[in-house]
Amino acid sequence: MPPTSASTGSRPRRGEGQWALGYREPLNKNEENKKNDDGLNVQQRIIDIYSKAGFDSIDPADLRGRFRWLGLYTQRAPGIDGGKTAVLEPEELDDRYFMLRVRIDGGRLSVAQLRAIGEISTSYARDTADVTDRQNVQLHWIRVEDVPAIWEKLESVGLSTMEACGDTPRVILGCPLAGIDADEIVDASPQIDRIYDEYIGSRLFSNLPRKFKTSVSGCSSFCTNHEINDVSFQGVVGPDGAPGFDLFVGGGLSTNPMFAQRLGAFVRPDQVTEVWAGVTSVFRDYGYRRLRHRARIKFLIKDWGAATFREVLEKEYLGYALPDGPEVDMREGLQRDHIGVHRQRDGRNYIGFAPRVGRVSGTLLSRIADIAEEHGSDRIRTTADQKLVVLDVDDDRVEAATAALEAEDLRVRPSVFRRQTMACTGIEFCKLAIVETKDRGASLIDELERRLPDFPEPVTINVNGCPNSCARIQVADIGLKGQLVTDSEGQQVEGFQVHLGGGMGLTAAFGRKVRGLKTTSAELPDYIERVLRRFLDKREDGESFAA
Ligand code: SF4
Repeated sequence: MPPTSASTGSRPRRGEGQWALGYREPLNKNEENKKNDDGLNVQQRIIDIYSKAGFDSIDPADLRGRFRWLGLYTQRAPGIDGGKTAVLEPEELDDRYFMLRVRIDGGRLSVAQLRAIGEISTSYARDTADVTDRQNVQLHWIRVEDVPAIWEKLESVGLSTMEACGDTPRVILGCPLAGIDADEIVDASPQIDRIYDEYIGSRLFSNLPRKFKTSVSGCSSFCTNHEINDVSFQGVVGPDGAPGFDLFVGGGLSTNPMFAQRLGAFVRPDQVTEVWAGVTSVFRDYGYRRLRHRARIKFLIKDWGAATFREVLEKEYLGYALPDGPEVDMREGLQRDHIGVHRQRDGRNYIGFAPRVGRVSGTLLSRIADIAEEHGSDRIRTTADQKLVVLDVDDDRVEAATAALEAEDLRVRPSVFRRQTMACTGIEFCKLAIVETKDRGASLIDELERRLPDFPEPVTINVNGCPNSCARIQVADIGLKGQLVTDSEGQQVEGFQVHLGGGMGLTAAFGRKVRGLKTTSAELPDYIERVLRRFLDKREDGESFAA
């Protein structure tokens, strides 16, 4: 049973809005909106009313709340600087255009699906497209009038925006090499499909306390970052030698970062769907709904601990005990990103390649689809590092496919900096942003390639426009958190707080935020160059940047 103040001896706490403890009345505006009307109901209103009557007809509770359940956010009105982010009312930041997030569960796309996204971008999104670090593609400049036609086109190829945002189970991360990687522990694709088919768009989980991020992966390089998802099923060889999953709950970054805790349970592949539904139900029923900034599942895990969470899961939701299981087998020096040309289990090859900070375009996505098709592939994948992979290329076509990608400035053999720099959406479109990120990240890559062309070590640089950490500030070697800083002339300008030494895997740690470690955006390349040169000068034999 969940701990009580009597059992722990702690001071009684006031209710946190947990449904299972009887707090069914909404304790804030967000909860009230969700109670008033299920977020999923907005889909029909968009089709029947808003797309016909236009932006001004949209009910504010739908515009700033329920639209997210269908992957739609208003984007930031152009020309509002970062100093105004926290002081303006939400409606003053709203543009009349939307960001649309297409969910790509497991990062899996066919040529036809990728082409459809590319065509939607060129027809309705001013040719914008970003590959995100959660394997989605985001489009911008969407008009509400065009949303039904976009959904129709997505649906015709088996894609959707359902629950791509909102207090819902968002896109399910999966290894881009699932089913083809010679080293994979287990192919988790069937589990991802079952969770999607049974629960995405279901009203069972359309009102969670907050967003809920899942990863299900058998990747031996841990490419979906099980440490920082709300729930992760990470492949492991079970006690009897058959593969299954090690279960982690409660990971998340943002302002209170926490690594997921291992429950110590072994989950057979055929149990994943019901165990996922059980974990999601615990969150729905016991999650904290009073304060939004304490609503992610990590706060529940922090208070309960892994053992209590597992007990509640097993006793109240599954009705049986999961066996204890072995821990995932972490090794040193793993690169998680699947970049480059590598052999598949079936003798063909996959080619992982890097745009700059995930920024592409509809035209470029269509061109990638063409390149894949011309070289005999019907399968493209997105990664959790803002990169892409083409699967199933025969030996005799690898060279030509690589050349075609490189000709589009999609690097198959990228520099350290192209390979490992990510950037979130930033002030160009995001209403929470304080600084610009995408162009800043792209030009930083170019500068560092010019200044340090032979930098020998992997180093991750993650550029974020605010403390929310969408591009993973705290787990980068160099994590950059956007904020206003004071320049040498005493002016408030765009800049970054620097976090150093974060990482995942065997040396998992959150980056240290050293007081005074700040740089203006304009001085960012100089600052990073200084840090990297100092590392090269002082490092001992074999020492990596992460160490
Ligand atoms: Fe927006 Fe902040 Fe997330 Fe960047 S980190 S996309 S600025 S919320």
